[in-house]
Amino acid sequence: MPGESPYRCSACGNADIHTFYRVNGVPAHSCLMLSSRAEALAFPRGDIELGFCRGCGFIGNVRFDPGLNRYSAAYEETQAYSPRFLQFLDEVWDDQIERFGLGPGMTALEIGCGKGEFLVGLCERSGCAGIGVDPGYRPERTRSSAAARMKFIRDLYGPKYAHLHADYVCCRHTLEHIEPVREFVRLVRTTIGERRHVNVFFELPDMERVLQQGAFWDIYYEHCTYFTRGSLARLFRSAGFDVHRLYEAYDEQYLMLEAQPAGGPTDALLPQENDLATVTSLVARFERQVNERLQSLADALARHRADGHRLAIWGSGSKCVSLISSLGLSRGLGPELIAVVDINPHKHGKFLAGSGLEIVSPDVLRALRPEVVLVMNSIYVDEIRRDLAGRSLHPELIAL
Ligand SMILES: [Zn+2]
Repeated sequence: MPGESPYRCSACGNADIHTFYRVNGVPAHSCLMLSSRAEALAFPRGDIELGFCRGCGFIGNVRFDPGLNRYSAAYEETQAYSPRFLQFLDEVWDDQIERFGLGPGMTALEIGCGKGEFLVGLCERSGCAGIGVDPGYRPERTRSSAAARMKFIRDLYGPKYAHLHADYVCCRHTLEHIEPVREFVRLVRTTIGERRHVNVFFELPDMERVLQQGAFWDIYYEHCTYFTRGSLARLFRSAGFDVHRLYEAYDEQYLMLEAQPAGGPTDALLPQENDLATVTSLVARFERQVNERLQSLADALARHRADGHRLAIWGSGSKCVSLISSLGLSRGLGPELIAVVDINPHKHGKFLAGSGLEIVSPDVLRALRPEVVLVMNSIYVDEIRRDLAGRSLHPELIAL
């Protein structure tokens, strides 16, 4: 049967995997900004083939090769520090501190703490002590009144850190980078041992929204695992956690789970865990729609190519790297791609992994005069149209 595969689910071990989305030769990291074109072009590539487990609803890249990971201090998370995002962080800090009564004498452990911002905020606000583990941590970035009660370990979390005891364990935007994922969640459970009072909080992208919106540009090589509320809860329950709270946040872009250790596997109790039928039909719809969507974009671009038009992309994040791969734009399968524009000045002069395109300021378009501009986020179409018109540019805009 087409779509059937020889793979096993890395969340539950089931062999009933339906593969439904493929892109080959994708840069292994998409939010690394590289300083030379040669480095960007030579960047390691891997293949994406998403497999949906009919047993537990987990979705993963069955072709993922952890050997291509390059997490280090050079890794720069491109989290937007927009007022909107900071407000969201404020809410998460307050909510977690209040719910779990974090305060002096307690210790919070953050697995995959990045540069440590979340843990620092948590410790500063609550008075608790903190331990952060992440290979990308940079000590010079932490300036905090809570620094004396915080410790950071620049490494990947693993069994050798099982001795790190904490009252609260959090892991934000990390699980989606981890394979084997079941072993990881079991390790967290094993580490907690018999200390049943420990609260665990995970935050990660919500795949349900990606499926609903057909947002194939939100699928990257870096993200090897994809969860909905049900599949996430099933994994935690099978690993010996009791799931107390499970919800979507930040415009349904994120998935939040709170759990406590149990004596063994636990049964589903929350109504939102019961999503397998919904997710199965969303996967089928995504599979149908993504091909139509890719085809209609490819057709539009082929018409521009036939007319000799040149293309610029507005927005240089992971979505852009993903789109260039999906449409084969760097292999000349569309109109000539002459520029990738970003309004963030810190990105100018850097190069995109895979395509080797330089990220430039919108001002560069004055001289390049593209006939068509692909807008990576439709929310900004009007703003971008005005920006372009202000530079006497009136290209056709194609918005995602
Ligand atoms: Zn499964």
